[in-house]
Amino acid sequence: MYVFGPVPSRRLGTSLGIDLVKHKTCSLDCIYCECGETTDLTVKRRSFFPVEDVLNEIDHTLSQRPYLDYITFSGSGEPTLSKDIGRVIDYLNSHYPEYKTALLTNSTLLTDESLRDEILPLDLIIPSINAVTEDIFQKMNKPHRDVGTSTIIKGLLEFRKSYKGMFWIELFIVPNINDNNDEIEKIKEICLQLSPDKIQLNTLDRPAPHNNSIKAASWESLSKIKEILAPLPVEITTSVIPGNEKDGREDNQALVLKKIKQILSRRPSTVDDLSESLGLRIVEINKYLRLLENEKILLFKDGARGRFYYVESNVIEEL
Ligand code: SF4
Repeated sequence: MYVFGPVPSRRLGTSLGIDLVKHKTCSLDCIYCECGETTDLTVKRRSFFPVEDVLNEIDHTLSQRPYLDYITFSGSGEPTLSKDIGRVIDYLNSHYPEYKTALLTNSTLLTDESLRDEILPLDLIIPSINAVTEDIFQKMNKPHRDVGTSTIIKGLLEFRKSYKGMFWIELFIVPNINDNNDEIEKIKEICLQLSPDKIQLNTLDRPAPHNNSIKAASWESLSKIKEILAPLPVEITTSVIPGNEKDGREDNQALVLKKIKQILSRRPSTVDDLSESLGLRIVEINKYLRLLENEKILLFKDGARGRFYYVESNVIEEL
């Protein structure tokens, strides 16, 4: 299976994932990786799956016209290691121009000119920069021997010269490794040169599967880093806010509710339609519909395929 979701994502709204590499193939072996340890540490681009199979699966999913904010290249490793990414981006743009495309990348392969050309048509790219000092990078991201911070920065600066889409940077913070002021100042210097539309400041949301000793940065620490990075536009994207009643689950619930309202204000939908669009189980969709009923904004009419729910479009103005 190469296509997953749609899933509600804190960073990208409703996102359909496309996974073009085999688990777990990457040019890094980050100590915090949520996908587990890298078993194939490589910088060699190749085809992992027959591209026709990937395109067929995309057709199957998109023929149902799901509501999506982005189609996102991400998944079991570093997506740019797939030699097919350019072909899949072109296919999406020519066959499904109504959908926006995004890429999450560790930025390690951007010195490759042909790759840079392949990903230029993306609507959004989110490269990560977590360190400028080589020792910190080695400790945190355990790269392939051919990768270093200077190659990453060189590739990013080169790419930025020609890329015209939205450009956000992910900065992932691991306490006591890359959160010291000196390192943040160095990262800021590079970010100023890259002029991102946004920096997403992130930390661990859940235990790293292969490293229990990694902890999340505190909200206070992230806020301090945000201040250092000013005037760069920074958004703290971690879901857990220590010391605050609000946690990731509540954030996620609010996001799903918002998505359901958006869908229902545009298009009356059955429970099945919503389940398919959002990749959630029927029982969960019913739970959200009950919440909308309590808000007294849920309307319905019965049709050939069952009960169609909708909300008035003015509800959307309150979102
Ligand atoms: S770059 Fe991403 S996929 Fe690769 S090891 Fe790091 S976090 Fe995991």
